[in-house]
Amino acid sequence: FDQRDGFIWLDGAFVPWKEAKVHVLTHALHYGSAVFEGERAYGGEIFKLTEHSERLVESARILGFKVPYTVAEIDAACNATLARNGLVDGYIRPIAWRGSEMMGVSAQKNTIHLAVAAWEWPSYFSPAERLKGIRLQWAKYRRPDPATAPSRSKAAGLYMICTISKHEAEDNGYADALMLDWRGQVAEATGANVFFVKDGVIHTPKADCFLDGITRRTVIDLARARGYELIERAIMPEELSTFSECWLTGTAAEVTPVSEVGEFRFTPGAITKTLMDDYSAAVRPAAVQKRAANA
Ligand code: PMP
Repeated sequence: FDQRDGFIWLDGAFVPWKEAKVHVLTHALHYGSAVFEGERAYGGEIFKLTEHSERLVESARILGFKVPYTVAEIDAACNATLARNGLVDGYIRPIAWRGSEMMGVSAQKNTIHLAVAAWEWPSYFSPAERLKGIRLQWAKYRRPDPATAPSRSKAAGLYMICTISKHEAEDNGYADALMLDWRGQVAEATGANVFFVKDGVIHTPKADCFLDGITRRTVIDLARARGYELIERAIMPEELSTFSECWLTGTAAEVTPVSEVGEFRFTPGAITKTLMDDYSAAVRPAAVQKRAANA
């Protein structure tokens, strides 16, 4: 991925994609002191950009460092990176990390860096294809107790068990893994939140030990705007036998229907489809929606 054309915003200036490098003694590489965001642009506009920039700053604060740019400056860097790479629809990846001045657990004097990359990331599947749903395997590792890890931070270090779980799932022919939390309750997938439907009511785990996704909150608002009843609560894995629909939400995943979780089966239905459509409409800027309507 490092050998591409294009430009990456690095500490305030654009550098050619292939030259956006860090030193091997970077603290973040050794001790996981990095925080990042994943954003999508639709029709040239980054969806909920400021919320993402605010979460980046907050993720860093939780890890004890300050991103050396304001939220407005981070917003501007993301927009500039999208434009500099000639992208209209794309994925944006800001990342902030501790640099290489000190080597050791303590890194009080290390420079904090910020980079922003952007690339094309289309939705590969048609809605009809997506409605078949993806298959998930149960993950071996669990989401840690918030007393054990800074679970509200989108910290690179928290993704170690996500990569292990995702690789195991892929090796077994599944698309992704669903993780429990330390209590044994259903938590989230390796890069997305999860929702279920029972008797027309939507159920989703309370986000008390994993990322409360921006897409999750958007979809909760869309569901309530539709008049659906939605309950955030503790969900035990054996309850999955009582649910009829299941989907994942995330910036990259958007609303992705799920057909299987381990031994349990789901049929993407009317509520999944409605929220997929409502999410697609919500992410498109008003100008693009107007152009489409007039076309
Ligand atoms: N959980 C994890 C572990 C994630 O990586 C993501 C993607 N950022 C999410 C949930 C969903 O978050 P969002 O909707 O803000 O993209």
